[in-house]
Amino acid sequence: MLQLKNIETYYGGIQALKGIDISVDKGEVVTLIGSNGAGKSTTLKSISGLVKVKTGNIVYNGTEIANKPAHETSLLGIAHVPEGRRIFPRLTVKENLLMGSFSVKNKRVINERIERAFHYFPKLKDRLEQKGGTMSGGEQQMLAISRALMMEPKLLMLDEPSMGLAPIIVEQIFEIIKELNQEGLTILLVEQNAYQALQIAHRGYVIQTGEIKLQGNGFDLIKNEEVREAYLA
Ligand code: ATP
Repeated sequence: MLQLKNIETYYGGIQALKGIDISVDKGEVVTLIGSNGAGKSTTLKSISGLVKVKTGNIVYNGTEIANKPAHETSLLGIAHVPEGRRIFPRLTVKENLLMGSFSVKNKRVINERIERAFHYFPKLKDRLEQKGGTMSGGEQQMLAISRALMMEPKLLMLDEPSMGLAPIIVEQIFEIIKELNQEGLTILLVEQNAYQALQIAHRGYVIQTGEIKLQGNGFDLIKNEEVREAYLA
């Protein structure tokens, strides 16, 4: 479904990605793990078009998408839930959800998608009129994921969905990621919470200072000495 070949991305003179090669097959959960500043978020931003790629190719379902703007990649079915959630704090939960389906005109389809969001996150149902910014961190993460689902993406990219959340909420979010995948959604997951991410991932990549250092299936990476020392300690 998605192949990155030799991706190099810069912020001014700083090279954040130094030739990244990763692939995601349809139906997989693939995770990117690595320390702060390794280049995980930049990889997702390079895919969705939030930052410009200097060299390399990003092929998505047979189409070259490197340097396509974010609104185009989103119309192609790539949803990006950024780090820190970025919901619209002054808009209500319902308005936030509707922003996710801006390209859909059919009201019935929109309502079906809202119902589907409630299936995963029943709590949102009672909160439709609440302002997004007054929700708890966990609720905002649920809203951010639901908003991304409103466009019925083919590829869901999640940037640190567990960040700053209580362990019980983290469990719930990981359960839902697993469920979404079991229902057919392909997921690219960036996580600092390497252990939990590798447990639900089919495959993983370890990024270090803008390069892929290791790759393998989730189980093998959990057992890998280097990974255990650096990321699971
Ligand atoms: P974190 O988990 O801390 O977000 P990360 O692995 O996602 O880490 P990135 O955010 O992709 O890392 O950052 C990769 C490198 O690019 C870092 O050295 C970072 O300082 C740099 N960087 C990221 N965003 C910018 C920016 N807007 N301007 C300049 N440098 C940036």
